Amino acid sequence: MSDNETFDVVVLGSGAAGAAAAISAHDAGASVLILEKCAPDQAGGNTRVSGSSIFHSLDAERGATYLRSLADRFPLPEDVVHTWATETVANADWLTSIGANLQKVVGYGDQPEYPELDGSDAYGGYLAIDGVLGHQVLWEFLMGALAERGIEIRHETPARRLLTDQRGAVTGVIAEHAGTEVSITARRGVVLATGGFQANPELVQQYLPLSEPKLWGTPHATGDGLKMAMAVGADLWHMDNMMSISGVPDPDTPQAWYQAFVFRPGFIWVAPDGRRFINERAKAGHGVALLNDVYEVFPTRRMHVVFDEATRAAGPISLGKEMMAVGWNVMINDRHWSADNLAEVERGILVKGDTIAELAEQLDVDPAVLEDTVNRWNEACAAGADPYFGRDAQSLVPLDRGPYYAYTAEPMLAWTNGGPRRNGNAQVLNVWGEPIGGLYAAGEVSSTYSLGKDGGFHMADALAFGRVAGREAAATAAAE
Ligand SMILES: Cc1cc2nc3c(=O)[nH]c(=O)nc-3n(C[C@H](O)[C@H](O)[C@H](O)COP(=O)(O)OP(=O)(O)OC[C@H]3O[C@@H](n4cnc5c(N)ncnc54)[C@H](O)[C@@H]3O)c2cc1C
Repeated sequence: MSDNETFDVVVLGSGAAGAAAAISAHDAGASVLILEKCAPDQAGGNTRVSGSSIFHSLDAERGATYLRSLADRFPLPEDVVHTWATETVANADWLTSIGANLQKVVGYGDQPEYPELDGSDAYGGYLAIDGVLGHQVLWEFLMGALAERGIEIRHETPARRLLTDQRGAVTGVIAEHAGTEVSITARRGVVLATGGFQANPELVQQYLPLSEPKLWGTPHATGDGLKMAMAVGADLWHMDNMMSISGVPDPDTPQAWYQAFVFRPGFIWVAPDGRRFINERAKAGHGVALLNDVYEVFPTRRMHVVFDEATRAAGPISLGKEMMAVGWNVMINDRHWSADNLAEVERGILVKGDTIAELAEQLDVDPAVLEDTVNRWNEACAAGADPYFGRDAQSLVPLDRGPYYAYTAEPMLAWTNGGPRRNGNAQVLNVWGEPIGGLYAAGEVSSTYSLGKDGGFHMADALAFGRVAGREAAATAAAE
């Protein structure tokens, strides 16, 4: 192991939570080092490929009510609710104070996803750097703010283990650099900001109702912070919460493409048995859908998506960089989706059949069942009402123009929400509910959300608790 180095605060991860923690600790007078697992071209986690939108909270008290409503049957500790509510309101002033040109996003995310919930009047839409969505705008701004302060990001240096003293308090980190272990002392605290565990198949299988999902974001979110926290006795919270969305699997990468169907809603979802099973356009928010009047985590299952020539020709069913500059496949892997969907047919990403029966054969579905499903769907469209699942009338577009197309959609796991339990001061708690000395967490490694979350909520949470973690760590008396 190489020579020990010492800093006041060591931050693990250079996404939004890590950047906010490092900036606030530095601005409070602490010496700070960020350890980042990846090389610069792969660093930045989900923050880098996100929509970069930040929830604009209009009022702390109403925001707290909204968060309680969203948590529903999985209530959150009140100290966490209080910090979240006050600090998400403070995000805008803080970002502006460190030089951000924060603007309201126009034409997207204007309304709350859950207007019926008490407190939704706190939702003030999306804020973004220069009012721009995607395009790495928030990540680039935060990297600039770190550079301005001379805060070092040590790339290709994954944190492996936390160091503790005899009382179990965290005193530093063992990391790895160029195949060598290095030991780094943190006099005032370590901040876990390593993102979620969505790219770790064992952890996903253990905690989520999914098996080997495709990803929307970083493939480097392997749950390192979760494991390090568990190893020093952290309690865990809401491990089964997540944000998944149906995606078109990319056979060449661990990622999937976002399925959009914005140009024509002529498509249906069928289960592996060839039957529809849900209102494809059920009321839904980030990672939950309203099923029989209860919000549940959705989607969790593989399904076939079926459409016809008219939908194929109407426009791309997944949006490219020019329309939606988010997602790892689009932004980092530089993978493209064709404007007319034909390149994807050519590559076998979409399967094609001249008839529904021919399509069914390729999906390994009973042709008679799929034909029956499509016939019923077309009858419902002609009648102007979906008697099976009550899909909205505007989207009752028949599938009657061959050839027909389909793909097998996987739940695309965008991020996980569970991790080490933390309190309102961003301190990680042990299984007795006591803070583990010197250990803080923020962002996806330990998000606030136990069930529902609205647009921009994750960035707001990462920035809010990142800032609190950095500030609290910097204010801690230095360990001898
Ligand atoms: C496609 C997409 C779009 C999204 N759009 C939005 C949006 O518009 N608004 C919103 O609110 N939320 C959005 N989200 C969610 C949001 O991006 C994340 O919740 C947020 O960025 C998480 O920030 P973070 O700092 O916790 O983690 P990340 O941004 O994932 O950063 C974690 C960092 O830790 C590093 N790391 C991992 N392990 C180690 C280790 N052992 N040692 C050192 N470093 C390590 C990683 O390489 C990474 O750089 C989106 C997510 C995706 C995938």
